[in-house]
Amino acid sequence: MTASVTVRVPAKVNVQLAVGPLRPDGFHDLANVFLAVGLYDEVTVRPHDGLKVTCEGPDADKVPLDAGNLAARAALALAARHGREANVHIHIAKDIPVAGGMAGGSADGAGALLACDALWGTGASRDELLEICAELGSDVPFSLVGGAALGRGRGELLTPLETGGTFHWVFAVADGGLSTPAVYAECDRLRAGTAVPDPEPSADLLAALRAGDAPALAAVLANDLQPAALSLRPALAGTLAAGSGAGALAALVSGSGPTTAFLAADESAARKVADALTASGTCRAVRTARGPVPGATVVAG
Ligand code: ATP
Repeated sequence: MTASVTVRVPAKVNVQLAVGPLRPDGFHDLANVFLAVGLYDEVTVRPHDGLKVTCEGPDADKVPLDAGNLAARAALALAARHGREANVHIHIAKDIPVAGGMAGGSADGAGALLACDALWGTGASRDELLEICAELGSDVPFSLVGGAALGRGRGELLTPLETGGTFHWVFAVADGGLSTPAVYAECDRLRAGTAVPDPEPSADLLAALRAGDAPALAAVLANDLQPAALSLRPALAGTLAAGSGAGALAALVSGSGPTTAFLAADESAARKVADALTASGTCRAVRTARGPVPGATVVAG
C-alpha cells in the first residue's frame, strides 16, 4: 500500500475578471480568465486513524484545520462518493498567501482530491474529479486543470485557452487578507443603480494570451473587483503605484485581493519591479512567478 502521496498545486491570477449582475442565488455570472502561476502549495496525504489536517508555512496560523478546510472537504466528498471513510492525514505546506485572491484554499482542495484519489486507488475519472471540484468552490476546477482557461458561470465552467509563451509576474503580498464575499458585496454596493452588462471575455485579451504578447496583454488586463478591493483597502493604491513606477507593464489587484499583481516584460524587469516593491515598504512580501504552469500534479507517492 502507498505510504503517502504528495501533490503540488499552483496559485492563479485572473488576467480578466468581468463580474456580471448579482444573480438571485447570490452568485454573479463571470467571464474569468485564469492563469496558473508558479507559486505552489504542496498537499501530502497518508493513512490515518480518522481525518486530520495540519499546515506549515508563513500563513499557517490563518488556515482552518477543522472540517471547514477545503482540503478536508475534498477528502470527505471523494470518500462519500466511494463509500469509504476519509481516514487520512492531510498535511499542507502552504506557500500561497491565505485570503490573498490567489485561490490558495481552492488549490488545497484540488490537491487533496487528487492526492486522496491516488492514495485510495479510487480511480475517479477526470470528469468526476472536476464535478467534485465544482461542488467545493468556483475556483477549485481551475486549480486542478491549471494552464490558462476561461471560466464562465461562477467560474467553474472551464474552457482551456491556448497560450503562446511565458508571462513574468511579480506579486506583492499584503498584510492580512480580504474576504472574497465581502469584496463581491462591496462591488455590488459600488455599482448599485448602474446597469451592469453581462460579462464577456475580451477578444483582444485572448489574442494577447495566444500570442504570448506581454505588452498587448498588459494593455487589456481587467479586474471588475479592483475598485471594491481598493475601497476596502485604500493602501493598495500605493502598492500598485510603486510597481508601476518601477517599470511594470501593468499593475492590478489579483482576484478579490489584497495581493497585487504586476506583469513584467521579462525576468530582469520582474526582478527590478520586485526590488522596488520590497524597498517601497508598501507590502509584507514580494514574490516572482511565471505562468502558465500545469495544474495539480502528483510529485511523490
Ligand atoms: P479566491 O482567490 O479563490 O477568492 P483567496 O485566495 O482569496 O480565494 P483563500 O486563501 O482560498 O482565499 O482563503 C479564503 C478563506 O478560506 C480563508 O480565510 C480560510 O478561512 C478558508 N480556507 C479553507 N480552507 C483553506 C485552505 N486550505 N487554505 C487557506 N484557507 C482556507
